[in-house]
Formats: sequence, C-alpha cells, structure tokens
Amino acid sequence: MKIESKAVHAGDRRKAGPYIPVTTPIYTAASYYYDDIETLDGVFAGTTAGYAYARYANPTTAAFEELVNALENGCGALACSSGMAALQMAIAAATSGRAQSVLAAEALYGATIKLLLNVLQPTGAAVRFVDMFDLAAVEAALAEFRPGCVLVESISNPLLRVPQLDRLAALCGRAGVPLIVDNTFATPLLLRPLELGAQFSVHSATKYLAGHGDVLGGVIVTDEAHLEPLRTLARVVGANLGPFESYLAMRGAKTLAVRFERQCSNAARLAEWLAAHPAVERVFFPARPDHPDREAIARLLPAGLSGAMVAFELRGADRAGVMRFLNALEMIVPATSLGDVHSMILYPFMSSHRDVSPELRERMGIRENLVRMSAGIEAAEDILADLDQAFRQI
Ligand SMILES: *Cc1c(COP(=O)(O)O)cnc(C)c1O
Repeated sequence: MKIESKAVHAGDRRKAGPYIPVTTPIYTAASYYYDDIETLDGVFAGTTAGYAYARYANPTTAAFEELVNALENGCGALACSSGMAALQMAIAAATSGRAQSVLAAEALYGATIKLLLNVLQPTGAAVRFVDMFDLAAVEAALAEFRPGCVLVESISNPLLRVPQLDRLAALCGRAGVPLIVDNTFATPLLLRPLELGAQFSVHSATKYLAGHGDVLGGVIVTDEAHLEPLRTLARVVGANLGPFESYLAMRGAKTLAVRFERQCSNAARLAEWLAAHPAVERVFFPARPDHPDREAIARLLPAGLSGAMVAFELRGADRAGVMRFLNALEMIVPATSLGDVHSMILYPFMSSHRDVSPELRERMGIRENLVRMSAGIEAAEDILADLDQAFRQI
C-alpha cells in the first residue's frame, strides 16, 4: 500500500467483538479483564495478545502507533505524552547498556538542547555537539568520543539544513552506535529514517502528524533490536500518550498526505515570492538554488516536495521591527508551534532559541531579524497578501 493509503487505513478497523468499528474508539478504561483469569495471566506473561493495564498499552494508542509505524516502515512504535518525552525515551532506549553519552547535531530544536544540557548532562551523561554537515568531523567524533547514541534532525530547525542521513547512518553503523533522527519537520512523506539505516525516528506528533494545533504528543518508531528495550522502559515510566490525544492524533494523521502536499506547495511558492521581495534579506528553504545541502536534498527528498517550513530574515529589522511585523499580521498566527492547518510564524530569538547562549546562537546563524514560518493550507494568495501588508509596518 502506498503511504497516502496507509495514512487512512493502518491501525483502524480492528475487530472488537462481532462488530468492527469504522474508526478506532476512545478506550478510557484503566484496566481490562477477561472471561477467565488464565487469559489475563497470559496477557501479563506476554504470551496472549491483549490489554491489562493502561500504562502497559491502550487500544486507541496502539492503533495510532500502528498507523505511524506503517508510515515510517518501522518494526514498532511507541506514542508518548509529548515530542520531548519521545526524545528522552528514545535516548534512554538507545543508550541502555551502552555509554551514557550523546553526540548531537549543533542545529537542534531549542528544547532538545535543553534536554541534553539541563536534564541529561546533570545526571552524569556526557553531551557533545558536532557539525553533522561535516562527515569527517562526525567520523572523528564517533571514534574519539565513542557516544552511546547520535542525535540529529532530518530537517534542522530553524534554518532548514538537510543532513546526509544515509551517509550519517552508514558512519554510525560502522561505529556500532544507534542513530536517532528527529523527523518532525520532514514527516514520513519526505523521509523515512529507518529505511536509510537509522535505528529511531522520532516525531513531535503535536506538529504535522496531528496537524490541527489541538493535541500535544510524540511518537518513536524503531527497529527490531530496540523495540523491546523501548517498550520495557515505557511500561515502567508511563510517559504514554493518553487515549483522547491518541484519537485526535490518529484522526489528524489520516489527512497528513493531503495537508502536507498543500503545505509544501504553499511553502515553495512563498519561498520564491519572499526571495524576490525587497523587505526580505535572505530566505532559507530546501528548494532554493543557493541552499548549502543541494546534493543531499536532491538525493534524499522526493522531487517537488521540500517541506513546508520557510525561514527568512527581514531586511534591516531589529527586535522592535520584527515585533511590529508580527503585530501587523492579520491572518497568519504569530504563535509557537508549526505544522498546523493554519500558517504560523515564530520568532526564534524570542521563543525557541531564547535561552540559547548568544555565542551558540551566533554559531547557529540565528540572527535578530530571523523569523520561521510554517505554511498552512490556506490559499497561497492570502498568505502572501498578509505578509506583504505586514512588511510595510516594519
Ligand atoms: C516541537 C518539536 C519538538 C518537541 O515536541 P513537543 O511535542 O512540543 O514536546 C521536538 N523536535 C522538534 C523538531 C519540534 O519541532
């Protein structure tokens, strides 16, 4: 089945007695029992398929997990209460029984940097950042630092760099180090990290997968070797996605392909328009002819789909100018998050990268006049018109 069809069928329509619900119901029960206690004994033992307690598994959440696993072509998925919980669980499962250390990309989502530096590092874990676009530096760091895992984003935030995931996976494979890919920005429509040799693909389901700005969630898809360690950890910790959120996320994910294709085409049109606009100094978008990762983009991304995020610098704008621009927007929502049906703009300097040190921010290339836009599914003309009138307020 093709990915568009999997999105509307995978995980759904499980037999629940003599009838088959057309869509998966919201199962709120905290625990389950059977006609005879021996069956429950078998469920606890793992020899009989079924449910026993909500921290172990929930049918609504399992359906959403099956759907995302099908989209990513993985061996199994675990849905978590947030994208950050998913990242923490993936790092814990990847480093289980290995060195407690992470070799991470320099360009990462702001909260991911905080997870590494403010949460993991104080527990004694070693964290090192490397330029994932310099494969020789990655190879050297793997040999010298010997990390427990490697962490990278398939499309980086906010400057939309695209690493050579296939080559990174090969380097990690040779070094025997699990590779975790945060695939939130790419979605399984653009990239499926496990097919390229990664061991974990992680999503903030809050973004494109759920897609409507009404649910916080995360999901991890992994390979055969890491599925049981991950599930064992999850059963004890219980950072699971709840049944209501799983229902919403699954409902959203069914339309992922149609939403995302529209968002990608809007973003491509937007990037071209911005590049020609006098109010804009620089545009960051994977389809731009001056993009530094053209080769990886041509090799790894499907033709015509370059993602739905566009970042740009406002010419001559300081913080106050960016604020005036954001205040002037009439349709585009100036809020944190991305991937929703409505277009959104975020100011990294003020939000996602606020707590990042000025030196690191400088090295990451995040300037005071940079904004990051998530294209929605509105008519492209309306998006451009809103930006155009707001540019005049700078
Ligand atoms: C939003 C986001 C996260 C965190 O996800 P939450 O659902 O907000 O916890 C992680 N990585 C990326 C790339 C994100 O955009």
